Amino acid sequence: MKFKDIYGLEDVKKRLVRTVDENRISHAQLFLGTEGTGNLALALAYAQYINCRNKTDGDSCGTCPSCVKYEKLSHPDLHFVFPVAKVKQLKDKEVSSSNSFYLENWRAAVLENDAHLSPGDWYAKIGIENKQGYINTDDARSIIDKLSYKSYEAEYKVMLIWMTEFLYHSAAPRLLKVIEEPPPKTLFLLVSHQSDKIIGTILSRSQTVKIPGYKEDDLLSYLREKHQAGEEEAHNAVKIANGNLVAARDAIQTSEIEVYNYEKFRDWMRMCFVAKFTDISEFVVEVSRLGRERQKSFLGYGLNVFRKAMLLNYAGLDAARLSPMEGKFVQGFAPFINEKNLDQLYKEFNDAIYHIERNAKPDILFTDLSIITTKLLHAGKK
Ligand SMILES: [Zn+2]
Repeated sequence: MKFKDIYGLEDVKKRLVRTVDENRISHAQLFLGTEGTGNLALALAYAQYINCRNKTDGDSCGTCPSCVKYEKLSHPDLHFVFPVAKVKQLKDKEVSSSNSFYLENWRAAVLENDAHLSPGDWYAKIGIENKQGYINTDDARSIIDKLSYKSYEAEYKVMLIWMTEFLYHSAAPRLLKVIEEPPPKTLFLLVSHQSDKIIGTILSRSQTVKIPGYKEDDLLSYLREKHQAGEEEAHNAVKIANGNLVAARDAIQTSEIEVYNYEKFRDWMRMCFVAKFTDISEFVVEVSRLGRERQKSFLGYGLNVFRKAMLLNYAGLDAARLSPMEGKFVQGFAPFINEKNLDQLYKEFNDAIYHIERNAKPDILFTDLSIITTKLLHAGKK
């Protein structure tokens, strides 16, 4: 990530660049900013800048061998520690090192979210959304061990600890020791939302870089350029976001998800109606790739359409409260949803949601559900 990929925050960027250009890089720095600020993004841009072999105009080049690996977060001298939680289906050994087991997920989560993610986004990515993550001792230890080796290719080795406030106390002493006596050319970049939850001794040994919230104009540019948001939509999102990029993006994406659910569900019902199984298998592949939360939201939308169809049939257009987007589809679909199939459709969709929560295989689940729905839609034909 280059500095210029981060919207605004020019003062902080200048200060960071100056520390590099004047050769006074502090070896332990805390990037402190509330959720939705650019703390992780700036820490990454800073590390990339430090190691860039062709720095120009206060930014990394993005194209030298070091930058290319940094852009993919795959540089061998860039190490990450992040909170994880124990999940049943993993063996103890796998959970003990988030770094090896979750690293690919971590890179994907950071890249997909433009390096702005909440702990909730991260937990959803690795399927532990109902748990509290922690940085465990083994993770800290394994990274510290790696730091004692000579760097592979970079000038500086970097250990980036995301959400430092979730570091277990038992992991702290070893980390403190290396922060106090760091191996040469080693940087600790701590990224945190709340400094009052960080272990005091670690806090006192790091230099704090305070990251302010985003300005409204910067958030607007971000939403327009990265999410192709319309003017009204972008302004509404920024108004409720209060300088928080994650909140602004969530506001936009909620509507993106609504549109997706509508279009996908409409197409799926059409496929089931004509029993076109080649299209259904393509559909199954696509929805199987969505995360569990998205699959549940999709099926929840389906339940909502069944309900609206029934209301339309028995109580009329006003009661059904159809949105302009779904109006035409639901009106065409409603005649096929009736007392012959409604209860069973409700049951099958609710069961599917229940099984997704319990880690059912999505391809099998959506294939079965498509077959049942095909039968039930035909049963509803009068
Ligand atoms: Zn470069």
